[in-house]
Amino acid sequence: MALDSYRYRDPLEVLMLDEARTCRGCSHQTHGWAFGVAIVACTKPDEKGNRRQSGRRCKDYKEAE
Ligand code: SF4
Repeated sequence: MALDSYRYRDPLEVLMLDEARTCRGCSHQTHGWAFGVAIVACTKPDEKGNRRQSGRRCKDYKEAE
């Protein structure tokens, strides 16, 4: 199985491209524990007021300070 073409680039560049698609570093992302299980959730509701699925970066990404 061949890798996507961008994966043959500089490994640091590939890592940065992969992370650019995640919520990692967003100030709206929160971590917690529930019944002994690690939970990652988004605290920012969408335009309709619904809960967002954390994991994939959205347009409301805001870098944590
Ligand atoms: S879904 Fe959007 S607002 Fe929520 S943590 Fe991810 S990037 Fe941030």
